[in-house]
Amino acid sequence: MAKAVNCPCGEVIKADTDDELVRLVQTHGKDVHQQEVSREDAMAMAQPVE
Ligand SMILES: [Zn+2]
Repeated sequence: MAKAVNCPCGEVIKADTDDELVRLVQTHGKDVHQQEVSREDAMAMAQPVE
């Protein structure tokens, strides 16, 4: 099932798999927010996409 993370900065990160979503969220966190994001944090923010 596709999932999405709504970042507080307004960016919406979507992916078809958990692994891909975690990777994209971690990359976004590092590049945009200079922040390390754990897999647990990324999945905690993930919401199913309708
Ligand atoms: Zn962001």
